[in-house]
Amino acid sequence: MHRCVELPLVAYAGFMAGENSDTNRAIKRLCVFCGASSGARPEYPACARAVGQQLAQRGITLIFGGGRAGMMGAVADAALDGGGRVVGVITKLLESREMGHKGISELHIVETMHERKMMMATMADAFIALPGGLGTLDELFEILAWAQLGIHAKPVGLLNACGYYDQLWKFMDHVERENFLRLNHRTAVFMDADAAMLIDNLSLA
Ligand code: AMP
Repeated sequence: MHRCVELPLVAYAGFMAGENSDTNRAIKRLCVFCGASSGARPEYPACARAVGQQLAQRGITLIFGGGRAGMMGAVADAALDGGGRVVGVITKLLESREMGHKGISELHIVETMHERKMMMATMADAFIALPGGLGTLDELFEILAWAQLGIHAKPVGLLNACGYYDQLWKFMDHVERENFLRLNHRTAVFMDADAAMLIDNLSLA
């Protein structure tokens, strides 16, 4: 398990007030950012299924982008198969393009991407990024930037299946070394290749 930087969580402030701010948190709802496709290796959808299974086993609700395709479908289906609760948030436009998942516990259809991201972020107690493309990276960096701004103080994890995030991790070290990270505003970021270990560490953050 890698831990990015040992820093206190920022003071909890802003529009998400009322959510968890404890240092030893019970994660009840975990938001997963991940690809709308499955990537080049079977290990990627396998790690999505492992996260879904873990969430169902632990009684943690999955919050996700609401799609049925790729990594998104894999994590949602595994959580549902395990008897878990799954909440999707998708825009009207993406509902047809990304095939909104009809079998989940709740599917929220919103107007804009901003509403979608805000709703997912507000509902979740913690976030995990699985392998994915620009959409996943956009969601990951937005949630990290919001933490830096003090908008939330929820832990963020990277599921490093097949070393997918190794280079990003190195780049973040570079950003930090070059003094472009405001250290005392940085939230806890965890990285692990194992879904169970990652969720355990987020719970202890
Ligand atoms: P991707 O990782 O590119 O496969 O996208 C995964 C999910 O991220 C999809 O549901 C996208 O709709 C969503 N997403 C969020 N923000 C963006 C964005 N700025 N551009 C593209 N997709 C995005």
